[in-house]
Amino acid sequence: MKELDISRIRGDFPILAREVYGKRLVYLDNAATTQKPRCVMDKITEMYATVNANVHRGVHFLSQAATEEHESSRRTVQQFIHAASSNEIVFTRGTTESINLVASSFCRSFCTAGDEILITAMEHHSNIVPWQLQGEIQGLKLQVAPINSKGELILEELEKKISPRTRLIAVTHISNVLGTVNPIEEIVAIAHRHGIPVLIDAAQSVQHTRVDVRALDCDFLVFSSHKIYGPTGVGVLYAKEKWLDAMPPYQGGGEMIETVTFEKTTFNKLPYKFEAGTPDYIGTAALATALDYVSALGIDAIARYEHALLVYATERLLTVPGLRILGNAGNKSSVISFLVDGIHPYDMGTLLDRMGIAVRTGHHCAEPLMELLGVDGTVRASFAFYNTKEEVDQLLKGIEKIVRMF
Ligand code: PMP
Repeated sequence: MKELDISRIRGDFPILAREVYGKRLVYLDNAATTQKPRCVMDKITEMYATVNANVHRGVHFLSQAATEEHESSRRTVQQFIHAASSNEIVFTRGTTESINLVASSFCRSFCTAGDEILITAMEHHSNIVPWQLQGEIQGLKLQVAPINSKGELILEELEKKISPRTRLIAVTHISNVLGTVNPIEEIVAIAHRHGIPVLIDAAQSVQHTRVDVRALDCDFLVFSSHKIYGPTGVGVLYAKEKWLDAMPPYQGGGEMIETVTFEKTTFNKLPYKFEAGTPDYIGTAALATALDYVSALGIDAIARYEHALLVYATERLLTVPGLRILGNAGNKSSVISFLVDGIHPYDMGTLLDRMGIAVRTGHHCAEPLMELLGVDGTVRASFAFYNTKEEVDQLLKGIEKIVRMF
C-alpha cells in the first residue's frame, strides 16, 4: 500500500513554510479553502506566459492551444470523477454557482407550484438558499430530513419525507461542520426507487475520498476547485446528459449559442449551452493540474492518512476538560467542530490565531444546523494531507493554554 511522504509533500506547498506573528503557520482551515501546491501556481503563470488567448472562437494558434488546454482539463475532471462523457462536465465558478444553476434550470423544467425539494438538516447555505430563491419564484417547498444526536442523517426519516411532490433530493456528501460522511449510495438507491433524481454536494468530499459518479449513479454532483488544491473561481457541475439536454440554459451570452437573430436564439451543444461568456480557462487548466497532483498522491492513500490524523486529533482533543466535539458520526471525515465550556468560540479562535494556528470559528454557513445543535457557533479544525500529528499537538497545547488562561 502506498503511503504519503508528508515532509516531501509539505515542501510542495510554499505557504506552509511561512510564519504568522513570528510563529510557523499551522493551517487547520482546510474545509474553508485548501493551500496550493507550487505546480498549480506554476501552471497559472505558464498559461499566461505561453498559451493565453480566448478559447473556442479563434482560428489562430494560441486560441486553439488554449482551447485544447481547456478541453483537456474537462477530460481530466471527467476521469477524476469517472463520468461517462466530458459533455457531462460543466465548468462554473464553484459549488455555489453549480447549485444555483441546477436550482434555476432543473426547477424551471421539472417543477411546478407545490412541488418539493428534499434536503438535509446539515446543509451549507449554498444548498439551502438557491432552492428557497427558486421556490419563491415557482411556489416550491423545501423539506428537510433530520439528523440524530451523533450528527448522522436518519435514513428512514429521509425516506418518510419523500412525497409524490418530491422532485429532487439535494444532499451534502460530507458535512463541513460535523464531518459526517453521508451514505450517498443508499440515498441514491432510495431516491431512484421513488423515481427521484439526486444532487450530491461534494464540496467537502472529492478532496478526501474516492468519488465515482457512475458507480454512485447520482444525477448531479458539484464541487469547487479551491477546496481541492486548485485555484479560486472555478467549479464543476457534473450532470447526466439526459438532464442537461432537458434543462434550459442558466445564463445567456457568448459561447452558449448556436445561432442568434433578434427574433430567436438556438443554443450550443453540451456542455457549452451552460457556459455563457469567456470561461476561466486559466483556472480550469490549474484545476486539472491540482487533480493530477491529488491523483499522483493517490486518493486512497490521502483518505487513509487523513483518517489516522482524525482519530489521533479526536483522542487528543478529548483529553481537554470541558471540551465537547459536535459531530460524532460513525463515518466521519477530517473535520472537528468543538466547544470548550465557558470559552466563546470567537475567543478561542482569536487566541489560537495569535499562536499561529488558523482555525475557523462561527456558524460555518450552516445557521439552521447551528440552531438545531443549540449553539451560536463552533471552533472548527479541518485537516488536509499536509497536516501532521505535530500540528495536532500544537493545537492541543494552544487549547490547553487558553483553558488555563480562562
Ligand atoms: N457546500 C459545502 C458542504 C461547503 O463546505 C461549501 C464551502 N464551505 C460550499 C458548499 C460552498 O462552496 P463555494 O463557496 O466554494 O461555492
